[in-house]
Amino acid sequence: MSLSDPASRIAAWQAQAGRHDLPWQRTHDPYRIWLSEIMLQQTQAATVIPYYERFLGRFPDVRTLADAPLDAVLQAWAGLGYYARARNLHRCAQVLRDDHGGQFPDSAVALAELPGIGRSTAAAIAAFAHEERTPILDGNVRRVLTRYLALEGDPTSARTMQTLWRHAQAWLDAAPASLNMRAYTQGQMDLGATVCTRGTPDCDRCPLAPDCAARLQGLQNVLPTPRVRREQPRHHCWLLIAECQDHIWLQRRPDAGIWGGLWAPPIFPDRAALEAACVPLDGPVQNLAAIEHVFTHFRLLLQPVRLRLAGPPPKFLALSAMPAQHPKPGASRRGANPAIIPPDAGLSSWISIDTLADTGMPAPIARLLLSLYERTVRSSG
Ligand code: SF4
Repeated sequence: MSLSDPASRIAAWQAQAGRHDLPWQRTHDPYRIWLSEIMLQQTQAATVIPYYERFLGRFPDVRTLADAPLDAVLQAWAGLGYYARARNLHRCAQVLRDDHGGQFPDSAVALAELPGIGRSTAAAIAAFAHEERTPILDGNVRRVLTRYLALEGDPTSARTMQTLWRHAQAWLDAAPASLNMRAYTQGQMDLGATVCTRGTPDCDRCPLAPDCAARLQGLQNVLPTPRVRREQPRHHCWLLIAECQDHIWLQRRPDAGIWGGLWAPPIFPDRAALEAACVPLDGPVQNLAAIEHVFTHFRLLLQPVRLRLAGPPPKFLALSAMPAQHPKPGASRRGANPAIIPPDAGLSSWISIDTLADTGMPAPIARLLLSLYERTVRSSG
């Protein structure tokens, strides 16, 4: 196979040494391919597989997904993180139902017009579903190409991205018309995930080794150039777990912002704010062990406080006094703790503890509450 035709080398390598047992490889259905591509963004295949299978069991097609309440979609997604992907998935299904008769468009260009589908994802769906001849450039492919070309500098800069797209297209242009687009597209992903990995690339197993510039120059372990990471800010906050007769008080968080659309106990910037909001409430208070959750750009230290209220649950938990520390709506959020929303924002409700396992909650909150109420949730069957 010619050195001037990397695409054919990758397709041939995929047939022999690539991955062939991933659940989304057994279908040409664009719905299933789309779902896998969205789930695989920022998440490894081994983590995605159980979510993918559960999600399909619950939402087997575009219409079922489009007709489902957003809460049910977020609940099925909980644990995968980056919840904007789930909200876009739901919105995209509704656009497909309302404007496209429940069908996916055939071309990558039309797919890229849909909510949450970027250029590379659209190309992957079109290649796997219809063998469209169009390049992809996901994180794995970016790393392989950056090394193959020995490109230095930030691989995500607009200028480098332009160069990478140009080369991705040039590889396709150099390949014969008979190139198997499914094998080629999968091969690029497999190469990045299993051979040209982020840590130490295994060049001896790579079909690009003979002419890979990074390998020839001994730069394979230093490229792509690492991005300069700023130290992550650490935010502290206090979580009020108010309980009353086997119910706890949860807020549905606004769609925009972290944990958008998910249910969580009210969160306060400090203990004084929590206590101020609870003044009218009466009951024993207990500090629980703090938990830390790491986001892409910051760390969140959550101190849970458990408050047990006597008597029947009041219709509404009076947390409406907005402490001064809460940013006023519309005020600048620069440097603010992104977990904090006013305690009276949006929908709030008493949720029965035995339905917590079916409530869409952020993963660290779900872990905390499910371990706290393990016996109650288990005994409810
Ligand atoms: S030869 Fe090594 S560095 Fe180059 S693409 Fe292959 S695995 Fe990556």
